[in-house]
Amino acid sequence: MAVVERIGQLRRGNVMPVIDPDREREIHARTMERASELGLNPHYVNEIFRLIVAYSREAQQWQKFDDGSAAPVVTFQGVEGAYSWLAARKYFSTHCSKFELVGLPTFEEALDSVIKGDADYALLPMENSITGSLVEVYDLLARGKTCLIGEVNLPIESCLIGLKGACLADIRTVYSHPVALQQCNNFLNRHSDIQIEAYVDTADAARKVHLDGEIHQAAIASREAAELYGLSVIRESVSNIKANTTRFGVIALNPVPVDLHLPAKTSVVMQLASQPGTLTKILNMIGERGINLVKLESRPVPSDPTIHRTFMDLEGNVDHPVTKAAIDAIRPMVKSVRILGCYVDSTRIDVNGSPPSGDKSSGEEARTICDASGQPVPPEQGKVKAKASSRTKKSSGKSRLVDLADRDRTVVEIGPVRIGDGGFCLIAGPCAVENPDQLERAARAVKEAGGRILRGGVFKPRSSPYSFQGLGWEGLKLLQKASERYGLPIVTEVMAPEQVARVAEGAQMLQIGARNMQNFNLLREVGRIDRPVLLKRGMMASIEELLNAAEYIMAQGNNQIVLCERGIRTFETSTRWTLDLSAVPVLRQRTHLPVCVDPSHAAGRRELVAPLAKAAHAIGVDAIMLEIHPEPEKALCDGPQALTPEDLKALMEDLEGIHEEAAL
Ligand code: PEP
Ligand code: MN
Repeated sequence: MAVVERIGQLRRGNVMPVIDPDREREIHARTMERASELGLNPHYVNEIFRLIVAYSREAQQWQKFDDGSAAPVVTFQGVEGAYSWLAARKYFSTHCSKFELVGLPTFEEALDSVIKGDADYALLPMENSITGSLVEVYDLLARGKTCLIGEVNLPIESCLIGLKGACLADIRTVYSHPVALQQCNNFLNRHSDIQIEAYVDTADAARKVHLDGEIHQAAIASREAAELYGLSVIRESVSNIKANTTRFGVIALNPVPVDLHLPAKTSVVMQLASQPGTLTKILNMIGERGINLVKLESRPVPSDPTIHRTFMDLEGNVDHPVTKAAIDAIRPMVKSVRILGCYVDSTRIDVNGSPPSGDKSSGEEARTICDASGQPVPPEQGKVKAKASSRTKKSSGKSRLVDLADRDRTVVEIGPVRIGDGGFCLIAGPCAVENPDQLERAARAVKEAGGRILRGGVFKPRSSPYSFQGLGWEGLKLLQKASERYGLPIVTEVMAPEQVARVAEGAQMLQIGARNMQNFNLLREVGRIDRPVLLKRGMMASIEELLNAAEYIMAQGNNQIVLCERGIRTFETSTRWTLDLSAVPVLRQRTHLPVCVDPSHAAGRRELVAPLAKAAHAIGVDAIMLEIHPEPEKALCDGPQALTPEDLKALMEDLEGIHEEAAL
């Protein structure tokens, strides 16, 4: 490791990458030659060196912190002596010589400190062997702004601890976290004279006992908490079940690649389509590829319990072709899939080493070189597979996620409304939400005309900064009220990445406007949420550019996208924009995503909207989006193109008539 550290220093001094394949190949060739000369089996010797190189790469990732004064800052929930604090010490003491642990009151604050850049890592509990998953942590991870980069398993040993000199007979009250108390109820029931008091966490309970200095008080906490607060252990292992382990996740802002020679795990979160058999298909596909599934759990999204997220841990490296292919095969089967992280599998290799107290030897841990299926890799296979993976790398214009290829057509679900299943969907509403009365009348008109989705802008992308910019969050509240009243899901535009998460809590579909079609940060942000997206074509964007914009969203894992043609800029000035209806059949040929047409913005004039809407309907578009206003002449935005409620009703009757005629 000293040599590894010197190499790391040299590399950083010369700004060389941690991974240098040519140099590594040279070393492997030389090692094998030398092994043969010494009469050793070159295959085994080479394997040992591969693992040393893998280990040294891992170590070098952390050395940047050991160079100067910058010790990584690690946040956790709780106070010193808490199990999270112990787990953080266990993990980080083996990766770097210096680190700073910061305890915060909540899981969310610990994670947010990483997102804001105040901390380098957060360490949060994910699963306890007795009580199961910590769902709150999973929900936070599903927000998709951070990555799991490591895990650490910590045996939880609960002790009864009290003041020095106290014995069991002295104890009248025991303080601890409710879960810890529950896990020790056999012991506590045997001593029914002892009163039980729930406390915020185990270490805090220990601190209380220390501060109160009362011989009759005790806490249930770790041995380390006792040491930290100058207490002594009255009874050790008071838990009902002795084998009690908590798995903690190490979380960073960006992923850290795991060497293909180390056993790895990949965590993903998916949103399944509401179709029978989807999960079975996914599980079969994973099984057929020989990938071991080590965790599977579904739970509702807190802000919308009608949607479920499915969390899954796979044995395998996300950069290994087998794992990659499996995740690629999942993509078309689900509404969204996101990788929460890939990290060294601590159950198959103990890279966390032993805890600082040195009470556990890692000497007899098996260190195996595994592939995605957990099988040992023959030395040459790694190389061959790595080549195969670079061949299948996505190059521009080829094999994108948005391409039709041989995929089934995507059906986008907006609450109970389906777009892309062969039916026709009307989206309508005002350009901008202006006031409760205007929205109420517009929403009623949409409902009465047979509209399925209510539109309305609250953040308006206006060409002039002096025009009405929208009601913002107040407008979203009005939309929600109208949505509930008329049973219409809503679509509204987001203009900035910071708006996305909050709008997604209140709206069933998010719109990316024409002016933001190539706002790549915004596209990535909507790619990370569990809400469908209406992506409008930029007024100066080609169809290819529109597809690439959708690819940005899909690449983040969100497949629920409706593309919208809304007119492009041409030399023609008699309409606001030129509605490019040919985009509809072209998109049909190229992508599996459903297509919407917005004749209102394209036309810019009311009297042109109905004929263009009929044309779009005639060429089989999946949805149209129309702007309406109860009093168009008073509209704060896009009045000239707004249909009245009567216009909308007449148009829909016409479209239904055309439909019936066609059926005859
Ligand atoms: C809108 O739909 O309200 C809008 C602003 O449209 P576009 O982005 O197509 O101009
Ligand atoms: Mn408008």
